[in-house]
Amino acid sequence: MPNGKDYIPTVAGLAHGDQGDEVEKLQAYLSKFGYLTSPDLIEGFGIDTLHEPEIVAEPGTFDENTTEALKKYQSFYHLPVTGELDEATVALMGAPRCGFPDIGEFNNSGRRWPNTNLTYGFQEFSADLTNNQVIQAMEQALSLWGAVTPLCFRRVAMSAGPDIIIRFVAGDHGDGFAFDGPSGTLAHAFYPPVPPSAPTPIQGDAHFDEAETWTIAVPPPAGTTDLVTVAAHEFGHSLGLGHSAVTGALMYAYYGGPHRFLHSDDINGIRNIY
Ligand code: ZN
Ligand code: ZN
Repeated sequence: MPNGKDYIPTVAGLAHGDQGDEVEKLQAYLSKFGYLTSPDLIEGFGIDTLHEPEIVAEPGTFDENTTEALKKYQSFYHLPVTGELDEATVALMGAPRCGFPDIGEFNNSGRRWPNTNLTYGFQEFSADLTNNQVIQAMEQALSLWGAVTPLCFRRVAMSAGPDIIIRFVAGDHGDGFAFDGPSGTLAHAFYPPVPPSAPTPIQGDAHFDEAETWTIAVPPPAGTTDLVTVAAHEFGHSLGLGHSAVTGALMYAYYGGPHRFLHSDDINGIRNIY
């Protein structure tokens, strides 16, 4: 099996004109998170408009479009906008994060559930926790959003066809967005439908990388990841939110430890949709 983290650059110092495998890694990262045009993201995550015009780089060459895409990334994350793969940029790219791309409007995706009574169900649980612990974590995560909107959430059996299907899966799990082993990408989720169209099966679903070691303990033991925090973030996508550039927001893409509350940015965002 190839290294699941081939999309994460590890060497600082690359700049315009450089070539090689490390440039390809950088381009893979920028494509995976939407800074370079990637048709997979349109199909998979249902983000209709990526870039106009398209931003396509010459594979393996740190060209002008790679520079432009990197500058957009640095700007979104409040890094010095050098257009070079400097130490600060490599460090952030190596940090654990959500697999949802950074494109798409934070609170104006055009995606929403047409009803406020939503159901969720489990296709798999995590081996790291008891099923009841997983259920409690999800209830706590959903309750953050339910507290500030008219939304209600009810757990149902898979046979009842839940709106939001929760999965714990490792590696390739059939949706085109393979997980990558411990750390790196922790989870991803899919937008709700564009009203009035009926949801497709994957819309609203939330997938968690079973290669992580999930916990509900606070503080999390070394090497573990807080499931309540990551689930609350993913359900933000399941409800129609994109990523926030606000560092203290739950919908900020990078995981920095337990964050079991909504920032005013998250509250304003979800209230803009529901
Ligand atoms: Zn996310
Ligand atoms: Zn998935």
